[in-house]
This record gives sequence, C-alpha cells and structure tokens, in this order.
Amino acid sequence: MARIFDVAIVGAGAAGMMCALTAGQRGSSVVLIDHAKAPGEKIRISGGGRCNFTNIHAGPKNYLSANPHFMKSALARFTAADFLAMVDRHRIAWHEKTLGQLFCDDSAKDIIRMLLDEMRTGGVELRLGIDVAAIEKAEAGFRIETSEGQIEARALVIATGGKSIPKMGATGFAYKVAEQFGLAVTETRPGLVPLTLEPGQLTELTPLAGVAVDAEVRHGKTAFREALLFTHRGLSGPAILQISSYWREGDAITLSLEPDVDFSAVLKAARRENGRQAVQTVLAQHLPKRLAQYVTERLRIEKPLADLSDKVLDTVASFLHGWVVKPAGSEGYRTAEVTLGGIDVAGLDSKTMQAKTVPGLYFIGECVDVTGWLGGYNFQWAWASGRAAGESV
Ligand SMILES: Cc1cc2nc3c(=O)[nH]c(=O)nc-3n(C[C@H](O)[C@H](O)[C@H](O)COP(=O)(O)OP(=O)(O)OC[C@H]3O[C@@H](n4cnc5c(N)ncnc54)[C@H](O)[C@@H]3O)c2cc1C
Repeated sequence: MARIFDVAIVGAGAAGMMCALTAGQRGSSVVLIDHAKAPGEKIRISGGGRCNFTNIHAGPKNYLSANPHFMKSALARFTAADFLAMVDRHRIAWHEKTLGQLFCDDSAKDIIRMLLDEMRTGGVELRLGIDVAAIEKAEAGFRIETSEGQIEARALVIATGGKSIPKMGATGFAYKVAEQFGLAVTETRPGLVPLTLEPGQLTELTPLAGVAVDAEVRHGKTAFREALLFTHRGLSGPAILQISSYWREGDAITLSLEPDVDFSAVLKAARRENGRQAVQTVLAQHLPKRLAQYVTERLRIEKPLADLSDKVLDTVASFLHGWVVKPAGSEGYRTAEVTLGGIDVAGLDSKTMQAKTVPGLYFIGECVDVTGWLGGYNFQWAWASGRAAGESV
C-alpha cells in the first residue's frame, strides 16, 4: 500500500515552503509538490532580485480583505521579527531600504536556500515538475492524482498563489479547489499594478514618459506618499502601484506633486523677487523640468510672473496639489505583483487557515483574500499564514 503522508502541500512558493518546514520540524511527514521546476520562483525575482522579504511595520492596517480582522491572529503569532530571526540564524545579510522594508544585501536566492535548508531539517519531501490532475476526498484524508501517480495525505494545504504573472506558472488552481469543496471565492483582480490611460490622455502626457516625482496619490480616503512615474503606457511607480489596489474601473485618482512644497507661496515670492521670470523656470526648481513645462503649457501660462494675478498663481498651485486623473484601466495580471480577492476568509479559521466546513483542508498565502501593500507585506502574509497552517496540520 502507498505511503500516506501527514501533510501534502501544493505550491512550493513562500507560503508553501514556510508551511512545509514548520510542519516537518514539528514531526509531521510532509510532501511538497509544485508544477514548476524550481521552488520559490517569485521569491527569486522579487524586490529586483534582492527580495523585500518583510516589513518591520507589518500589521493588519497594511492589508486589504473583505474581513480586515482576519489576518490579525496569524500576523501576531509570526511577526516580521520572527522571520528576521530565521534570516539572522542563516547569516543572511540584510538592510532596511525605506519605510521598514527589509531586503537581502546580496540575493533573493539566499532566502530560497534558507527555506530549503529548513525544509531539509524537517525532512520535507520536495517533488518538483509535477502536475496535479485531480484532488479527491479519500478515507485517510485526501488523494491527489498527479502526473507521477497518486499521493495520499491526512491534511491538504493549498498554497498555489494568485493569478499574477501567468508566465511564471501562476494559475487559478486554488480557486478551483475551493469551489470543488464548496468554499466561496471573492472576486479577483490585479493589484500593485501600473495604471493605463486612454489614448487621448496618453498622447498629451507623452512628453512626460520617464519622468519621476515625489507624490501623494489619493483615492477616496486612502493616500500613499511615494514616487510616481509617468510611462509610455500611463502611470507607475510605488505610489501608483499602492493606490491601484484600491482603485476601481471608472474611478478617478488625485495626484499631489511634491506635496511639501507650497507652490502658491513659492510663486508669489518669486514674483516679488524677479517678476520677469517665467512660471516654468520657478516650478523647475522644485519639479523635473519636463513636468514644469507640461504644467505651464497645459494651464496656458505664457506671461511672466509680474503679469499674473494671485488667482492665476493659486490655480497653478491647486493643479499641482490636486491633479485629477481618470485611469482607463490597469496593466492586468501580466505585470501585477499580487492578486486581490481570492478564497473567502469567511470560510477559513483565522488561527489555522483550515476550511471551516472541510476538516484537513487548508488555504494559505496569496490565494486567500488577504492582500498586502507594496513593501514586504505580501511575503510577511505568506510566512505568517504558512506558519499558522504548519502549526495546525
Ligand atoms: C515581480 C514580483 C515582485 C514581488 N516582490 C515582492 C517583494 O519584494 N516583497 C513582497 O512582500 N512581495 C512581493 N511580491 C509578491 C509575492 O511574491 C507574493 O505575494 C508571494 O510570492 C505569494 O506567496 P505564495 O506562496 O502564496 O504564492 P507563490 O509565491 O506565487 O507560490 C505559488 C506556487 O504554486 C505553484 N503553483 C501554481 N499553480 C500550481 C498548480 N496548478 N500545481 C502545482 N503548483 C502550482 C507555483 O509554481 C508557485 O511555486 C512580488 C510579486 C511579483 C510578481
């Protein structure tokens, strides 16, 4: 008779590997399966190859979910400091880049090596390049039909991630399994993704392609202050990626460029000092030159400062701190860093990630309707939810 594992995990990404090493080190027999030829491919390419592996400020406020409390338990029981302790134990050098974001000094591959080492310590059996054809309930728990035969396990953990970057093996597999077992799946959409503009707007903004500026980008009550980048397709940069997770088709966003600069005061002071100056020249002291030129052309400001009223200067300032843009769409899953939505958290136990109605079935990581901000929060969710399930299986 074929061996029955305590735990089978599908998906050897961040969440699946953390779950596997945790369960293995607690004495469970664990098999970890992936259709890819290498584990942790998204870790490898993350953070520009240096993996922004956590954020020291990670807390529930940094996540989107239909239930904003769902992630509290897992995040509290496995924190950024806990992950960092593992990183330090493996003597991986790291640094804080900005806003609590921790990156490897050298390479994201160090994180993958660390997880593989820890899995070896836990005796985890890693099977790569295996396709899962079907999953069924079996007497002992679950039976997985794969391209290399059957695997049976008492508990089954689904850690196959979301739909972003299909080129890298992302599939909607987790959602199908959830539906098969009667769990609800909330609407999924691309998150942390550049926004596109309609052709007319794009033509108008063409001269700005490649220009980056410090900005606060707002959607309703949510705002992010980071870099904004104008591109050939629309808007990008961290501030835009962040707001994209809150933006919905048809909505407008508001850009405040160089929010710390009081442009009204700056322009009026410049007029007092030298009224012959052009507005563009003064703006270019605080904004990229091409942006200063674009703004003055767009607002049709041609006269020197001395010939402009307070009202006109205030209009320039209001535009710079309240530029309303209506994106046409997003670049979609092709470039999205994450998938918003997913397995409905109402069907999962927040302490263990186990399906409430299917004992032994777990969902962890990005496939669950919990999505973090840009900046290491998504990996922290993968580690924390993987840990929670690994301690329960
Ligand atoms: C370009 C990029 C950069 C990123 N950078 C960062 C960053 O710096 N910091 C951060 O916090 N987050 C980052 N993210 C987000 C982060 O990578 C994900 O949130 C995280 O990897 C999710 O972990 P996961 O284990 O749930 O899923 P994944 O890491 O996606 O792992 C899922 C695994 O399941 C496998 N799989 C999928 N379908 C099947 C199937 N049908 N059968 C078998 N196996 C399957 C896949 O091959 C994969 O190995 C980045 C994402 C991208 C795309």
